[in-house]
Amino acid sequence: MKRGSPELTAALAQLADQHLRRVRRTVALSDSDSRTQIQIDGHRLVDFSSNDYLGLARHPALATAMGECARACGAGSGASHMVTGHGVEHQRLEEELAAFTGRARAVLFSTGYMANLAVITTLAGRGERVLLDRLSHASLIDAGLLSGARFKRYAHADATAAESDLAAGRGSPTTVVATDGLFSMDGDVAPLEALARASRAHGAWLVVDDAHGLGVLGANGRGTVEHFGLDGDDVPVLMGTLGKAFGAFGAFVAGAPDLIELLMQKARPYIYTTALPQPVAAAARKSLEISQREPWRRERLSALVRRFRTAALRHEVPLAPHSGPLTPIQPVMLGSSEKALAAQQELFRAGFCVIAIRPPTVPRDTARLRVTLSAAHTDAQVDALAEALGHICARVGAAPEAV
Ligand SMILES: *Cc1c(COP(=O)(O)O)cnc(C)c1O
Repeated sequence: MKRGSPELTAALAQLADQHLRRVRRTVALSDSDSRTQIQIDGHRLVDFSSNDYLGLARHPALATAMGECARACGAGSGASHMVTGHGVEHQRLEEELAAFTGRARAVLFSTGYMANLAVITTLAGRGERVLLDRLSHASLIDAGLLSGARFKRYAHADATAAESDLAAGRGSPTTVVATDGLFSMDGDVAPLEALARASRAHGAWLVVDDAHGLGVLGANGRGTVEHFGLDGDDVPVLMGTLGKAFGAFGAFVAGAPDLIELLMQKARPYIYTTALPQPVAAAARKSLEISQREPWRRERLSALVRRFRTAALRHEVPLAPHSGPLTPIQPVMLGSSEKALAAQQELFRAGFCVIAIRPPTVPRDTARLRVTLSAAHTDAQVDALAEALGHICARVGAAPEAV
């Protein structure tokens, strides 16, 4: 793009014309707000858009852990992990994450985005191939591009398609198959058993990004891998984040000792960046502890998901077709970006924050409202949302292909 040119204005105008321009809102919180309430422009809204599935992000014990650690260790880490930035809280958190996921070792990253860049660029390079689910998170796609490997996307959640791509890649070997565990915008899960079998048979690494599944799925909240009864042999590379169900910030990769050591030695998104603040690690440790000690959070969440689906279907809300486990991501399919924005606007007026998700985050003509539930929501909030959605979707009109 030319410097200072009217092309910038034109590019912005084009986004607006296509109903694709994004709006950033400043969210205010106050002590009197419940854990699911936010304030935007002075309006108090019930937040049905966050990834705070277990209701931990605003838990006072996390804030206390953070504050105590900050007083002892300071706010910043001062250096990268391989220099002098790796502290005791980081070390303990890595050990606890390894134990939680049943892996030999785990290593922290500042963000899930960086963890995905690190994993894919370390395991795949020029002359190799990376296979991704078509609806994989943007960070996996960017990682594939950055790796220099040839990458191919197979049809969403289609393990048969992945397997035939694996079989076809004799000339340049496929080294990595990567997928979200629980898909962030669709709320369904990857066919991990079949992907694990195919990856093993073809000697490819299977990387599972379980940003949304960890803490939520599986009998003990160990995520999509636990839901399917799989282990570290089936899924040798597990990426998880700490900013979603765990209510803090940061990410990690868990796996065998050599895998983790090689990431630390070679991954540029690990080496060339400041270690995340220790108080953040302290908060994550606290949330990991609470999430394991309080399984009622997961039970409450599933009860709310069932309640929401039943009420929404009664009000003829066009929920995405569902198969597999019930998850806290419940998309309402509206099709066009214009309809999704109109519905979002009406929901704001009715006191709910549900953000419209549009291309390029989701494929064309699949714009949606991404409803997410949290263990902190009340029955009454969920019932009221389902009813409001019923009225609003009837007015704006659903996507033709939705149920
Ligand atoms: C949120 C998310 C990420 C990125 O994690 P951050 O820690 O927010 O950078 C990666 N993958 C998936 C599937 C996600 O939903």
